[in-house]
Amino acid sequence: AYNFNPGPAALPLEVLQQAQEQFVDYNGIGMSLMEVSHRSKEYEAVNNETQQLLLELLGINAGYQVLFMGGGASTQFATIPMNFLKPGRTAGYIITGSFSEKAYDEGRVVGEAVIAASNKEGKWRSLPKASDIIVDPNAAYVHMTTNNTIEGSQFSYIPETGGIPLIGDMTSGILSRPIDVSKYAMIYAGAQKNLGPSGVTVAVIRDDMLQEEPKHIPFIFRYTTHAKNKSLYNTPPVHSIYMMNLVLKWIKKNGGAAAMERQSIEKSKLIYDAIDTSGGFYQGNIDPDSRSIMNMTFRLPTEELEKQFVKESEQHNFVGLAGHRSVGGIRASAYIAVPYEACQALAQFMDDFQKRNG
Ligand code: PLP
Repeated sequence: AYNFNPGPAALPLEVLQQAQEQFVDYNGIGMSLMEVSHRSKEYEAVNNETQQLLLELLGINAGYQVLFMGGGASTQFATIPMNFLKPGRTAGYIITGSFSEKAYDEGRVVGEAVIAASNKEGKWRSLPKASDIIVDPNAAYVHMTTNNTIEGSQFSYIPETGGIPLIGDMTSGILSRPIDVSKYAMIYAGAQKNLGPSGVTVAVIRDDMLQEEPKHIPFIFRYTTHAKNKSLYNTPPVHSIYMMNLVLKWIKKNGGAAAMERQSIEKSKLIYDAIDTSGGFYQGNIDPDSRSIMNMTFRLPTEELEKQFVKESEQHNFVGLAGHRSVGGIRASAYIAVPYEACQALAQFMDDFQKRNG
């Protein structure tokens, strides 16, 4: 199948095969890794190595902690304000799509969340310019979504926040390009797009954000609890972390974030070229300067044609091309494990479909 699922998403075939080989008997221990204690030396090695690999691939030498948590990226929407938004302070939210809106909604439940910028009125077509972002000097942090999975837009710059901690939701973009992590106080991502299967969420947090214990919230929700316990405070999603370990090794072997970026630019260009040379048959949802290299969204002249496009695509072994139910149209999610050939095949299918229906 050509897997364009938005998430959980394609995993490298090689990784799935490796996992299959070790599934019943992990490294000759006579049982599956899923059956061992998370306090065992086998799992501890996986836990430590996976944290190190992630730091290395993100280009971090020191000063940040990697946490593996449950509850998906959505839980981070709540735990971020619970941990960092104190009474008397505000939290700025850059709203660029429905996931950043959800993060903002959770922030408002906890405290005084304010909008630092929003492109909702422009139907998300173009991301806010750096000069549109207003940072309250009293903000405890500014939250942004670097890649907007549903809408198909992606920031090409890191906002300047004048020293206010910047927190980035990178669920659908992490490791698809090199980033300057030093510009962020925290980044986080649900694993299920670029890092592995669902079930684990990574949070990479700068040490100074972990200095103060947020004693007003339960232990389990405190980042400090998970940091102190190296993500072994409670039972972690062992299998998901093991799979992430294999995916990270695959990324490293294939050239790291810089190579993932080169490939993602090439892959997404195939789809964007098919849109831009279609004479208006395919209409991109996002202005070219804000387009994502992970999620490509577009429309066809009518909803009937869109339905037909999805139906025929399925007959040609394409999976997951229907746009999000809130947006409609088509969305091709070409995360880092999606091969170039899948995007080539999709661009070809788009041309053929247009010839038959344009
Ligand atoms: N943030 C972004 C950018 C996402 O794409 C998603 C899921 O697709 C989420 C948050 C929510 O993640 P989860 O389903 O892990 O809670």
